[in-house]
Order: sequence, then structure tokens, then C-alpha cells
Amino acid sequence: MTLDTELFPYPLVGTYADRFHANRYALIGDAAVGMHPVTAHGWNFGLRGAATLAAEIQTACDLGLDFGARDVLSRYSDAHRQATWAMYVGTNTLVGLYTKTTPLAKLARKSLLMLGQHLPPAKRIIMNQLTEARG
Ligand SMILES: Cc1cc2nc3c(=O)[nH]c(=O)nc-3n(C[C@H](O)[C@H](O)[C@H](O)COP(=O)(O)OP(=O)(O)OC[C@H]3O[C@@H](n4cnc5c(N)ncnc54)[C@H](O)[C@@H]3O)c2cc1C
Repeated sequence: MTLDTELFPYPLVGTYADRFHANRYALIGDAAVGMHPVTAHGWNFGLRGAATLAAEIQTACDLGLDFGARDVLSRYSDAHRQATWAMYVGTNTLVGLYTKTTPLAKLARKSLLMLGQHLPPAKRIIMNQLTEARG
């Protein structure tokens, strides 16, 4: 392989919009929730947000209501916030922990890895959370 362009840094940051909706306007995808890629959830959340918004729009249409109305978009917004906020904060905490070089941070991540390795139920809970598996 050969390099075609200049190398440039790509900032891996998380962004979380203050609001996911405004007057007849809804944010989805990274525009709503831009996850740090370490937990590999950005695209998943994009799909989830689109599905949640589509379901709210479908419900409004079925009832013969205005699908761009504030309360329709607000229900999408609340549901998507509920589905994403904890993972967003957790991901940023993880990034903070794994990029710090202090002895305490090193000890904390070593302990966490050991806990995951030697406590299968804890490992399973984390994996189920990440993959949205039941049970
Ligand atoms: C290194 C890395 C690894 C990742 N790994 C995973 C993973 O394993 N699993 C996972 O679920 N997610 C992952 N993600 C996240 C995933 O890639 C994003 O969440 C997803 O691509 C976001 O899709 P989007 O359509 O919302 O935004 P984008 O893909 O950013 O699309 C936005 C588009 O809008 C265009 N655009 C911007 N401004 C304008 C404008 N003014 N006018 C017209 N067009 C415009 C842009 O050019 C772009 O094409 C990763 C991200 C990165 C950076």
C-alpha cells in the first residue's frame, strides 16, 4: 500500500446533542449521539434512533395525527435519550480510565479486567448489555 494523502489526526470524541428535536425537526445518528468508537455503538444507536423515530411517526399516522407534531418528536427524543445516555456516559468514563497513565488508573483497569476474567456472571452482564442480549 502507498500513502495517497497527507496524514492528519482524526479526533475521536463523543458528542451528545442538548436536544434531539425542535420545531418539525428531529436529530438522528451521530448528529444526535456521537459515540466514542471504543464501545462500537455509534452505528447501532443510529439504527435504533431511526427505528424509534419511525415507530413514533407510524403510530401518529395510524391515529391520523400530524407526525411532525412536537409531542410525537418529543416521545422519540425521550426514548432515545433513555436508550443512549447511560452507555454514552459509561463509554466516556471507560475512555477516561483507559487513557490515563496514573498508577491509580492503571490499578483500576487491571482490577476491572481481572474481575471480568474471573467472574463469568459479571462478564456476561457486560456482554449482554453491549449486545442487548436477553438473559
Ligand atoms: C473509528 C470508528 C470506528 C467505529 N466503529 C463502530 C462500530 O464498530 N460499531 C458501531 O456501531 N459504530 C461504529 N462507529 C460509529 C459509526 O461509524 C457512526 O455512528 C456512523 O457512521 C454515523 O452515521 P451517520 O449517518 O449518523 O453519520 P455520518 O456517517 O458521519 O454521515 C454524515 C454524512 O453527512 C455528510 N455531511 C456533513 N455535513 C454535511 C452538509 N452540511 N451537507 C451535506 N452533507 C453533509 C458527511 O460528509 C457524511 O457523509 C465507528 C466510528 C469510528 C470513527
